[in-house]
Amino acid sequence: MASRSLWKMMDLCGALECPHPPVQTWMPYIFSLSLESLKCFQVRNNERMLSDSHGIETIRDILPDASLGGPSCFKILPAKAVLKPQAGNAEEAVLWRELVRKVLASYLETAEEAVTLGGSLDKNCQEVLQFATGERENGFLLQYLVAIPTEKGLDSQGCFCAGCSRQIGFSFVRPKLCAFSGLYYCDIGHQDDASVIPARIIHNWDLTKRPICRQALKFLMQIRAQPLINLQLVNTSLYEHVEQIHLIRGCRKQLKLLGDYLSLYQSRALTELSRRLNHRNYLLESPHKYSVADLQQIADGVYEGFLNTLIGFASQHVYHCDLCTQRGFICQICHHHDIIFPFEFDTTVRCGECKTVFHQSCQAVVKKGCPRCARRRKYQEQSTFT
Ligand SMILES: [Zn+2]
Ligand SMILES: [Zn+2]
Ligand SMILES: [Zn+2]
Ligand SMILES: [Zn+2]
Repeated sequence: MASRSLWKMMDLCGALECPHPPVQTWMPYIFSLSLESLKCFQVRNNERMLSDSHGIETIRDILPDASLGGPSCFKILPAKAVLKPQAGNAEEAVLWRELVRKVLASYLETAEEAVTLGGSLDKNCQEVLQFATGERENGFLLQYLVAIPTEKGLDSQGCFCAGCSRQIGFSFVRPKLCAFSGLYYCDIGHQDDASVIPARIIHNWDLTKRPICRQALKFLMQIRAQPLINLQLVNTSLYEHVEQIHLIRGCRKQLKLLGDYLSLYQSRALTELSRRLNHRNYLLESPHKYSVADLQQIADGVYEGFLNTLIGFASQHVYHCDLCTQRGFICQICHHHDIIFPFEFDTTVRCGECKTVFHQSCQAVVKKGCPRCARRRKYQEQSTFT
């Protein structure tokens, strides 16, 4: 959705009325909707006073609600409380519902794009994610998985807990900041559970445990083992700046190449490899997909050993298997009868164009690039001249 045109639409303010307890009288309010928040102003003596503000990430839904007096009434469900405004007429109410829905949809879209979604998640992963975000309710948590939140302050939440309707602030319950979402919670929604913050690992290799709210704790536990983080997409510079990650990238690429061999046909070795992967089959699909658990194991220093065991197992199969060795290479420079493979990073190099594999030592002598590609170019030139 083009957010710019949406913004133009949203820049309008609408006058709505809200029920005023204890007697059911309607009070005039002005609501202002932007891509970031829904603000609610009271009008007194022709002056607008901000009475409430709801961050878009805390709004769950907007629904018609005729119970308060007809089709012009609807309700908005922020994380805190419920707003039940009445528009001038039924059409205006519909317009408001459409606008809020559009803002919500665009917000969730951006959150999903931030992660590796875009169709690249397998079915199991998508299901876990859908479950963890409760369809829509916790969908806003997803964005914070890969982006460090900016703390907007308690005011932007209207001094309400982001998880329930309790008022928080200096004269009420002490507000607690969630390091995962950057939102404030009451002492029920936030019980000082400490966790690493995935976005801080991804961007700063910061593995400090910080206090997070209950909602984020639950979300992080549910998605912990899911490969939702594509390092190449969210922060490729981590590969260069963190030596452990740099080493792991090499192992992951090696394992991926070995997986390509073993996945060519159904074998006992493939079954055994899958068992050893222990539900991490994505390791054979892409070298860049990581789960939060993967990142933590890298930091703990146990991940490389895990990968090397898998590499050892798979390469032993390839070296001793007739079918797999047939798919190996003979060095096109020295033509030695030894079969070489692309996953032998220490001794071979691979042409990026024709994918042929050479001895590293032979390639160093030739230096002029790939002899196979050179031959092909020469042949093509000859055939165009004749
Ligand atoms: Zn609360
Ligand atoms: Zn084989
Ligand atoms: Zn060679
Ligand atoms: Zn080549």
